[in-house]
Amino acid sequence: MKVAIIGAGLTGLSAAISLKDYVNVKIFEKNDVGGLASSYCKGYCIEKFYHHCFKRDEELIKLIRRFGLSKKLVWRVAKIGCEVNGKIYPLNTPFEILRYPYLSLYDKIKLAIFTLKSKSRNYEKEDYKSVVEGIREELGENLLNSFFMPLLRSKFGDNYKEVSYAWLLARVAIRSNRKYSGEELGYLKNGFNQLIERMVDEVDVTKKEAKLKKFGGYEVCGEKFDAVIYTGSLNSLDKKIAETINLPKIKYQSSVCALISLKEKLTNIYWTNITSDLTFGALIEHTNFMDFEDYGEHLIYLASYSTPDGWLFKCDNETLRKMYLKDLKVFGVSEKDVRWIKVFKAKYSSPIYEKGYIKKITDYRTPLKGFYIAGLTSKPNYPERSMNGSIKAGKEVAKVLKSDFKIN
Ligand SMILES: Cc1cc2nc3c(=O)[nH]c(=O)nc-3n(C[C@H](O)[C@H](O)[C@H](O)COP(=O)(O)OP(=O)(O)OC[C@H]3O[C@@H](n4cnc5c(N)ncnc54)[C@H](O)[C@@H]3O)c2cc1C
Repeated sequence: MKVAIIGAGLTGLSAAISLKDYVNVKIFEKNDVGGLASSYCKGYCIEKFYHHCFKRDEELIKLIRRFGLSKKLVWRVAKIGCEVNGKIYPLNTPFEILRYPYLSLYDKIKLAIFTLKSKSRNYEKEDYKSVVEGIREELGENLLNSFFMPLLRSKFGDNYKEVSYAWLLARVAIRSNRKYSGEELGYLKNGFNQLIERMVDEVDVTKKEAKLKKFGGYEVCGEKFDAVIYTGSLNSLDKKIAETINLPKIKYQSSVCALISLKEKLTNIYWTNITSDLTFGALIEHTNFMDFEDYGEHLIYLASYSTPDGWLFKCDNETLRKMYLKDLKVFGVSEKDVRWIKVFKAKYSSPIYEKGYIKKITDYRTPLKGFYIAGLTSKPNYPERSMNGSIKAGKEVAKVLKSDFKIN
């Protein structure tokens, strides 16, 4: 039996690894292997978009172990902060949080209780409530306007009004693994690229855009297959096939991200949320999380979100470069302090988890026999997409395919 997998992101690679001992698998990838988790390499490798993992990412951790990389998985307290009017406030220890001047003590206590309770919440029940309604009801107008609103706007732009409360609850639950000194996050020292490389070593990847045809069986780039697993965005799927299987209309978000090498360290913080109106909504100083020595330079990411047809996504890289450099002046960084800057974009980087999204989650099986969909829109990536979710989706779709074709 021959199976074509479209996309060598973590979903496609994970599906291929689960199937390779049972069937003949071929992956087609039009861009870089690793997809959204792919890296920029120059002597060292670093993800094009900032990545870290969480203790509850069981599938990712299992895979890291399977490839003998456990010793490289490090857990560190990642310092976070918040920028207001050009000043950065660290928000890690209870003392730092108490000193933060833009929230009352009452609001801080409410926020702490909300975070503590988040782990045990059934967030699926809140899928039909908007994030704004949910925060207003549970935490009040002040926390909504002065704390959450800038974060929501920078992450979703105007689409924030559509986002479901379930997304926020799940997001807070993931991020509530706190110690006294702050939140512990994981990273594969020297980059997640090492995991992707090991996965690629075990499977057959063809660097080509997959052109899919269906007539009885399936044909991808002129080669016949018995089954196909599609892991790209639903918007890019062949129109004829999309119409036949009646896909849900999913709104996607795009990511635009600058990776910058600075001559000097900028802050003492890993993740700073930006509340001022800048091109980026977060400043992520990677070399405050991982060691400077691993790279030999100070690396920061400036993270922006857009919609696929939004002006930011449409800007050319040179314009974006200039905008990022201009906005960095808020932090006293001028062009002479920058060694180099790279801009990366991903058109379909996440579904927007709008109200009622739960009904749009795609099944692995489609009405077309032998045609499967897995990836960002699968259940394990709800209500927040992650490396772990995509690895799990890859494993699950492989299991479903094996059961349909009675493969043991
Ligand atoms: C800015 C950003 C930050 C993130 N941070 C984190 C984080 O900190 N922690 C975490 O766990 N996760 C994070 N993620 C999410 C994580 O990267 C993704 O959930 C995961 O990598 C998605 O894998 P995937 O295979 O499902 O999708 P993708 O990576 O999108 O893979 C799909 C692949 O299919 C290919 N493709 C599509 N159509 C075709 C075609 N016709 N022919 C050939 N190839 C095709 C695409 O090129 C792509 O490589 C982040 C993502 C972004 C964008």
